[in-house]
Amino acid sequence: MTPEYFSIDPVLLEMFSRQILMREIGLEGLEKLRKSRVFVAGGGALGSASAIFMSRLGVGFIRIVDPDVVELSNLPRTLAYKYEDVLRNTPKAYAVARSIKEISPFTEVDYKIDVIETDNVLDFIKDVDLVLDGLDNLRSRFILNEAAVQLRKPYIYGGVEESYGVVMPIIPGETACLRCLYSSVDIEKIDEERRVIPVSVLTPVAVAFVMTSLALRILLGRKIEKKIYYIDVSRPEIKTFDIERNPQCPVCVKGLREFIGVRSVSRIRAVSGAKDLYMIILSKKFDDKDLDKIRSLGSVEKTEFEYKIETEKVFIRLLRGSRIGFVRSRDIDSVRNIYEKITRYLEDDKDTSGGIRDQQK
Ligand SMILES: [Zn+2]
Repeated sequence: MTPEYFSIDPVLLEMFSRQILMREIGLEGLEKLRKSRVFVAGGGALGSASAIFMSRLGVGFIRIVDPDVVELSNLPRTLAYKYEDVLRNTPKAYAVARSIKEISPFTEVDYKIDVIETDNVLDFIKDVDLVLDGLDNLRSRFILNEAAVQLRKPYIYGGVEESYGVVMPIIPGETACLRCLYSSVDIEKIDEERRVIPVSVLTPVAVAFVMTSLALRILLGRKIEKKIYYIDVSRPEIKTFDIERNPQCPVCVKGLREFIGVRSVSRIRAVSGAKDLYMIILSKKFDDKDLDKIRSLGSVEKTEFEYKIETEKVFIRLLRGSRIGFVRSRDIDSVRNIYEKITRYLEDDKDTSGGIRDQQK
Protein backbone atom coordinates (compact mmCIF):
# COMPACT_ATOMS: atom_id res chain seq x y z
CA MET A 1 0.00 0.00 0.00
CA THR A 2 1.24 3.47 -0.80
CA PRO A 3 1.37 6.16 1.87
CA GLU A 4 -1.07 8.36 -0.14
CA TYR A 5 -3.72 5.77 0.57
CA PHE A 6 -3.83 6.93 4.17
CA SER A 7 -5.26 10.20 5.36
CA ILE A 8 -3.15 10.62 8.49
CA ASP A 9 -1.40 13.90 9.20
CA PRO A 10 2.46 13.71 9.15
CA VAL A 11 2.57 15.01 12.74
CA LEU A 12 0.47 12.03 13.83
CA LEU A 13 2.64 9.66 11.82
CA GLU A 14 5.61 10.91 13.83
CA MET A 15 3.74 10.85 17.15
CA PHE A 16 2.57 7.27 16.69
CA SER A 17 5.63 6.07 14.75
CA ARG A 18 6.54 3.32 17.27
CA GLN A 19 3.01 1.94 17.29
CA ILE A 20 2.86 2.00 13.48
CA LEU A 21 5.93 -0.26 13.44
CA MET A 22 4.03 -2.90 15.40
CA ARG A 23 2.75 -5.71 13.19
CA GLU A 24 -0.59 -5.91 15.00
CA ILE A 25 -1.35 -2.20 14.48
CA GLY A 26 0.58 -0.70 11.57
CA LEU A 27 -0.55 2.28 9.54
CA GLU A 28 -3.88 0.67 8.77
CA GLY A 29 -4.55 0.05 12.47
CA LEU A 30 -3.69 3.63 13.36
CA GLU A 31 -6.08 4.88 10.72
CA LYS A 32 -8.84 2.71 12.20
CA LEU A 33 -8.10 4.09 15.66
CA ARG A 34 -8.09 7.71 14.44
CA LYS A 35 -11.57 7.14 13.00
CA SER A 36 -12.81 5.42 16.16
CA ARG A 37 -15.22 7.03 18.61
CA VAL A 38 -15.26 5.82 22.21
CA PHE A 39 -17.60 6.60 25.09
CA VAL A 40 -16.19 6.45 28.63
CA ALA A 41 -18.73 6.35 31.46
CA GLY A 42 -17.22 7.73 34.66
CA GLY A 43 -14.25 10.07 35.08
CA GLY A 44 -12.89 8.49 38.27
CA ALA A 45 -9.73 6.43 38.57
CA LEU A 46 -10.91 3.66 36.22
CA GLY A 47 -12.64 5.86 33.65
CA SER A 48 -9.89 8.43 33.45
CA ALA A 49 -7.13 5.82 33.06
CA SER A 50 -9.20 4.13 30.32
CA ALA A 51 -9.82 7.43 28.53
CA ILE A 52 -6.16 8.44 28.74
CA PHE A 53 -4.97 5.04 27.42
CA MET A 54 -7.49 5.24 24.55
CA SER A 55 -6.21 8.70 23.61
CA ARG A 56 -2.58 7.55 23.80
CA LEU A 57 -3.42 4.60 21.55
CA GLY A 58 -4.58 7.12 18.95
CA VAL A 59 -8.39 7.01 19.25
CA GLY A 60 -9.74 10.09 17.47
CA PHE A 61 -12.82 10.89 19.55
CA ILE A 62 -13.59 10.35 23.22
CA ARG A 63 -16.76 11.33 25.08
CA ILE A 64 -16.58 11.23 28.87
CA VAL A 65 -19.39 11.71 31.37
CA ASP A 66 -19.20 12.17 35.15
CA PRO A 67 -21.33 14.15 37.62
CA ASP A 68 -18.74 14.58 40.39
CA VAL A 69 -16.03 17.06 41.32
CA VAL A 70 -12.45 16.14 42.28
CA GLU A 71 -11.87 15.37 45.98
CA LEU A 72 -8.63 14.94 47.90
CA SER A 73 -9.11 11.17 48.37
CA ASN A 74 -9.28 10.72 44.56
CA LEU A 75 -5.77 12.06 43.91
CA PRO A 76 -3.53 9.03 44.57
CA ARG A 77 -5.45 6.74 42.17
CA THR A 78 -6.40 9.08 39.38
CA LEU A 79 -3.96 9.88 36.60
CA ALA A 80 -5.94 12.86 35.29
CA TYR A 81 -6.22 15.06 38.39
CA LYS A 82 -3.96 17.63 40.00
CA TYR A 83 -3.95 18.90 43.59
CA GLU A 84 -5.18 22.22 42.28
CA ASP A 85 -8.39 20.49 41.09
CA VAL A 86 -9.30 19.77 44.70
CA LEU A 87 -8.99 23.45 45.58
CA ARG A 88 -10.95 24.56 42.51
CA ASN A 89 -13.74 21.94 42.78
CA THR A 90 -12.93 20.93 39.20
CA PRO A 91 -15.53 18.62 37.66
CA LYS A 92 -13.95 15.21 37.03
CA ALA A 93 -15.12 15.04 33.40
CA TYR A 94 -13.44 18.39 32.72
CA ALA A 95 -10.21 17.29 34.44
CA VAL A 96 -10.02 14.16 32.27
CA ALA A 97 -10.71 16.13 29.08
CA ARG A 98 -7.99 18.62 30.01
CA SER A 99 -5.51 15.85 30.79
CA ILE A 100 -6.12 14.20 27.40
CA LYS A 101 -5.77 17.51 25.55
CA GLU A 102 -2.48 18.27 27.34
CA ILE A 103 -1.04 14.99 26.06
CA SER A 104 -2.68 14.93 22.65
CA PRO A 105 -4.38 18.01 21.21
CA PHE A 106 -5.24 15.73 18.26
CA THR A 107 -7.87 13.80 20.23
CA GLU A 108 -11.35 15.30 20.06
CA VAL A 109 -12.89 15.22 23.53
CA ASP A 110 -16.53 15.81 24.41
CA TYR A 111 -17.00 16.02 28.18
CA LYS A 112 -20.34 16.15 29.98
CA ILE A 113 -20.97 16.88 33.65
CA ASP A 114 -23.91 14.57 34.07
CA VAL A 115 -25.18 11.23 35.34
CA ILE A 116 -25.91 8.26 33.11
CA GLU A 117 -29.69 8.30 33.03
CA THR A 118 -32.62 6.55 31.42
CA ASP A 119 -33.28 9.63 29.27
CA ASN A 120 -29.76 10.55 28.10
CA VAL A 121 -27.85 7.28 27.74
CA LEU A 122 -28.90 6.60 24.14
CA ASP A 123 -27.70 10.06 23.09
CA PHE A 124 -24.36 9.49 24.83
CA ILE A 125 -23.61 6.27 22.94
CA LYS A 126 -25.55 6.42 19.66
CA ASP A 127 -22.62 7.84 17.63
CA VAL A 128 -19.74 5.86 19.18
CA ASP A 129 -18.11 2.55 18.23
CA LEU A 130 -17.39 1.31 21.75
CA VAL A 131 -18.47 1.88 25.36
CA LEU A 132 -16.11 1.67 28.35
CA ASP A 133 -17.65 1.40 31.81
CA GLY A 134 -15.73 3.02 34.67
CA LEU A 135 -18.85 3.62 36.77
CA ASP A 136 -19.27 3.14 40.50
CA ASN A 137 -22.86 1.96 40.94
CA LEU A 138 -24.93 -0.90 39.56
CA ARG A 139 -27.98 1.15 38.56
CA SER A 140 -25.99 3.32 36.14
CA ARG A 141 -24.19 0.23 34.83
CA PHE A 142 -27.49 -1.53 34.15
CA ILE A 143 -28.76 1.53 32.26
CA LEU A 144 -25.57 1.58 30.19
CA ASN A 145 -25.71 -2.18 29.54
CA GLU A 146 -29.31 -1.97 28.39
CA ALA A 147 -28.49 0.91 26.02
CA ALA A 148 -25.42 -0.89 24.63
CA VAL A 149 -27.46 -4.05 23.99
CA GLN A 150 -30.29 -2.04 22.40
CA LEU A 151 -27.94 -0.12 20.05
CA ARG A 152 -25.64 -3.16 19.61
CA LYS A 153 -22.52 -1.31 20.75
CA PRO A 154 -19.56 -3.30 22.09
CA TYR A 155 -19.37 -2.57 25.81
CA ILE A 156 -16.55 -3.31 28.25
CA TYR A 157 -17.44 -3.57 31.91
CA GLY A 158 -14.78 -2.97 34.57
CA GLY A 159 -14.95 -3.03 38.36
CA VAL A 160 -12.44 -2.62 41.19
CA GLU A 161 -12.23 -3.40 44.90
CA GLU A 162 -9.16 -3.70 47.12
CA SER A 163 -6.48 -5.44 45.01
CA TYR A 164 -9.00 -7.12 42.75
CA GLY A 165 -10.58 -6.17 39.49
CA VAL A 166 -13.06 -7.69 37.04
CA VAL A 167 -13.36 -7.00 33.33
CA MET A 168 -15.96 -8.38 30.95
CA PRO A 169 -16.14 -7.53 27.25
CA ILE A 170 -19.72 -7.59 25.95
CA ILE A 171 -20.54 -7.97 22.27
CA PRO A 172 -24.35 -7.66 22.09
CA GLY A 173 -25.95 -10.70 20.49
CA GLU A 174 -22.79 -12.77 20.87
CA THR A 175 -21.48 -12.75 24.42
CA ALA A 176 -23.12 -12.55 27.86
CA CYS A 177 -24.25 -9.07 28.89
CA LEU A 178 -23.96 -7.48 32.33
CA ARG A 179 -27.52 -8.56 33.20
CA CYS A 180 -26.54 -12.19 32.38
CA LEU A 181 -23.75 -11.80 34.96
CA TYR A 182 -26.00 -10.22 37.60
CA SER A 183 -29.14 -12.20 36.85
CA SER A 184 -30.41 -12.41 40.43
CA VAL A 185 -30.38 -8.65 41.15
CA ASP A 186 -33.85 -7.26 41.89
CA ILE A 187 -34.04 -4.08 39.83
CA GLU A 188 -36.94 -2.77 41.92
CA LYS A 189 -34.54 -2.54 44.86
CA ILE A 190 -31.51 -1.33 42.97
CA ASP A 191 -30.40 2.20 43.79
CA GLU A 192 -27.43 4.40 43.12
CA GLU A 193 -25.69 3.59 46.34
CA ARG A 194 -22.02 4.28 46.01
CA ARG A 195 -20.14 2.71 48.86
CA VAL A 196 -16.75 3.93 49.96
CA ILE A 197 -14.70 0.98 48.78
CA PRO A 198 -11.20 0.07 49.87
CA VAL A 199 -9.05 0.11 46.76
CA SER A 200 -5.38 -0.08 45.87
CA VAL A 201 -3.78 2.75 43.93
CA LEU A 202 -2.68 0.15 41.36
CA THR A 203 -5.98 -1.69 40.80
CA PRO A 204 -7.79 0.88 38.60
CA VAL A 205 -4.76 1.26 36.32
CA ALA A 206 -4.38 -2.54 35.97
CA VAL A 207 -8.10 -2.95 35.24
CA ALA A 208 -8.04 -0.04 32.77
CA PHE A 209 -5.10 -1.74 31.06
CA VAL A 210 -7.15 -4.93 30.53
CA MET A 211 -10.21 -2.94 29.44
CA THR A 212 -8.29 -0.90 26.89
CA SER A 213 -6.38 -3.96 25.60
CA LEU A 214 -9.76 -5.53 24.82
CA ALA A 215 -11.02 -2.21 23.41
CA LEU A 216 -8.03 -2.12 21.08
CA ARG A 217 -8.85 -5.62 19.80
CA ILE A 218 -12.46 -4.66 19.16
CA LEU A 219 -11.57 -1.39 17.39
CA LEU A 220 -9.04 -3.19 15.19
CA GLY A 221 -11.70 -5.77 14.25
CA ARG A 222 -10.19 -8.71 16.13
CA LYS A 223 -12.09 -11.51 17.80
CA ILE A 224 -13.16 -11.31 21.43
CA GLU A 225 -13.45 -14.44 23.55
CA LYS A 226 -16.42 -15.13 25.82
CA LYS A 227 -14.36 -14.61 28.94
CA ILE A 228 -14.43 -12.72 32.19
CA TYR A 229 -11.07 -11.46 33.46
CA TYR A 230 -10.08 -11.45 37.14
CA ILE A 231 -7.12 -9.26 37.99
CA ASP A 232 -5.21 -9.45 41.29
CA VAL A 233 -2.59 -6.70 41.52
CA SER A 234 -1.21 -7.96 44.84
CA ARG A 235 0.38 -11.06 43.26
CA PRO A 236 0.09 -9.83 40.39
CA GLU A 237 -2.05 -12.19 38.29
CA ILE A 238 -4.74 -12.24 35.61
CA LYS A 239 -7.10 -15.24 35.35
CA THR A 240 -9.85 -15.81 32.82
CA PHE A 241 -13.08 -17.78 33.15
CA ASP A 242 -15.60 -18.75 30.50
CA ILE A 243 -18.97 -17.03 30.64
CA GLU A 244 -22.06 -17.90 28.63
CA ARG A 245 -25.27 -15.97 28.05
CA ASN A 246 -28.17 -16.56 30.41
CA PRO A 247 -30.92 -18.06 28.20
CA GLN A 248 -33.47 -16.22 30.39
CA CYS A 249 -31.67 -12.82 30.34
CA PRO A 250 -34.36 -10.11 30.35
CA VAL A 251 -32.09 -7.67 28.48
CA CYS A 252 -30.02 -9.46 25.83
CA VAL A 253 -32.35 -12.43 25.23
CA LYS A 254 -35.88 -11.17 25.91
CA GLY A 255 -35.14 -7.58 24.86
CA LEU A 256 -37.02 -6.04 27.80
CA ARG A 257 -36.53 -2.38 28.74
CA GLU A 258 -35.93 -2.40 32.47
CA PHE A 259 -34.71 1.21 32.62
CA ILE A 260 -34.69 2.99 29.26
CA GLY A 261 -37.96 4.78 28.68
CA VAL A 262 -38.60 5.14 32.42
CA ARG A 263 -38.81 8.86 33.22
CA SER A 264 -35.86 10.21 35.19
CA VAL A 265 -36.81 12.16 38.32
CA SER A 266 -34.93 14.69 40.39
CA ARG A 267 -33.48 13.29 43.57
CA ILE A 268 -31.04 13.93 46.38
CA ARG A 269 -28.68 11.53 48.02
CA ALA A 270 -25.90 11.54 50.58
CA VAL A 271 -22.41 11.53 49.11
CA SER A 272 -20.59 8.46 50.34
CA GLY A 273 -17.49 9.22 52.33
CA ALA A 274 -18.16 12.96 52.56
CA LYS A 275 -19.67 14.24 55.80
CA ASP A 276 -22.76 16.47 55.65
CA LEU A 277 -22.64 16.53 51.84
CA TYR A 278 -25.55 15.71 49.53
CA MET A 279 -25.72 15.46 45.76
CA ILE A 280 -28.75 16.84 43.93
CA ILE A 281 -29.65 15.39 40.55
CA LEU A 282 -32.29 17.45 38.76
CA SER A 283 -34.44 16.19 35.92
CA LYS A 284 -33.02 18.86 33.59
CA LYS A 285 -29.96 21.05 33.16
CA PHE A 286 -29.67 24.58 34.48
CA ASP A 287 -27.50 27.44 33.27
CA ASP A 288 -27.24 31.24 33.28
CA LYS A 289 -30.80 31.73 32.09
CA ASP A 290 -32.04 30.05 35.28
CA LEU A 291 -30.02 32.31 37.60
CA ASP A 292 -32.91 34.65 38.40
CA LYS A 293 -34.98 31.70 39.57
CA ILE A 294 -32.51 30.82 42.33
CA ARG A 295 -31.50 34.31 43.49
CA SER A 296 -34.13 34.28 46.23
CA LEU A 297 -32.23 31.43 47.91
CA GLY A 298 -29.31 33.73 48.77
CA SER A 299 -26.49 35.67 47.14
CA VAL A 300 -25.20 33.83 44.07
CA GLU A 301 -21.50 33.77 43.16
CA LYS A 302 -20.64 32.56 39.67
CA THR A 303 -17.25 30.81 39.29
CA GLU A 304 -15.52 28.95 36.46
CA PHE A 305 -17.50 25.75 37.00
CA GLU A 306 -20.35 26.51 39.37
CA TYR A 307 -22.82 28.82 41.04
CA LYS A 308 -22.22 29.11 44.77
CA ILE A 309 -25.08 30.07 47.04
CA GLU A 310 -24.68 30.53 50.76
CA THR A 311 -27.51 30.79 53.25
CA GLU A 312 -27.48 30.82 57.02
CA LYS A 313 -27.56 27.03 57.32
CA VAL A 314 -26.53 25.57 53.97
CA PHE A 315 -23.87 25.95 51.31
CA ILE A 316 -25.04 25.12 47.80
CA ARG A 317 -23.00 24.54 44.65
CA LEU A 318 -24.75 24.03 41.34
CA LEU A 319 -22.48 22.86 38.52
CA ARG A 320 -22.96 25.17 35.53
CA GLY A 321 -24.57 23.69 32.42
CA SER A 322 -25.40 20.43 34.20
CA ARG A 323 -28.21 19.06 36.34
CA ILE A 324 -25.90 18.32 39.25
CA GLY A 325 -25.62 20.22 42.51
CA PHE A 326 -24.18 19.74 45.97
CA VAL A 327 -25.61 20.89 49.30
CA ARG A 328 -23.53 20.96 52.45
CA SER A 329 -25.12 21.31 55.88
CA ARG A 330 -25.29 19.61 59.26
CA ASP A 331 -29.00 20.28 59.43
CA ILE A 332 -30.87 17.64 57.44
CA ASP A 333 -34.16 19.59 57.54
CA SER A 334 -32.48 22.61 55.96
CA VAL A 335 -31.01 20.36 53.25
CA ARG A 336 -34.42 18.90 52.48
CA ASN A 337 -35.99 22.35 52.50
CA ILE A 338 -33.43 23.83 50.11
CA TYR A 339 -33.68 20.82 47.79
CA GLU A 340 -37.44 21.25 47.57
CA LYS A 341 -37.05 24.96 46.84
CA ILE A 342 -34.44 24.36 44.12
CA THR A 343 -36.55 21.74 42.36
CA ARG A 344 -39.61 24.00 42.62
CA TYR A 345 -37.75 27.01 41.17
CA LEU A 346 -35.87 25.19 38.44
CA GLU A 347 -38.30 22.57 37.26
CA ASP A 348 -41.52 23.60 35.59
CA ASP A 349 -42.99 20.11 35.76
CA LYS A 350 -41.90 19.23 39.25
CA ASP A 351 -41.80 15.51 39.96
CA THR A 352 -39.47 14.79 42.81
CA SER A 353 -38.85 11.39 44.26
CA GLY A 354 -38.40 13.06 47.61
CA GLY A 355 -36.62 11.29 50.42
CA ILE A 356 -32.99 11.45 51.31
CA ARG A 357 -31.40 8.06 51.53
CA ASP A 358 -28.74 8.10 54.17
CA GLN A 359 -25.75 6.26 52.75
CA GLN A 360 -23.21 7.33 55.33
CA LYS A 361 -23.49 4.26 57.47
ZN1 LIG B 1 -27.83 -10.76 28.93
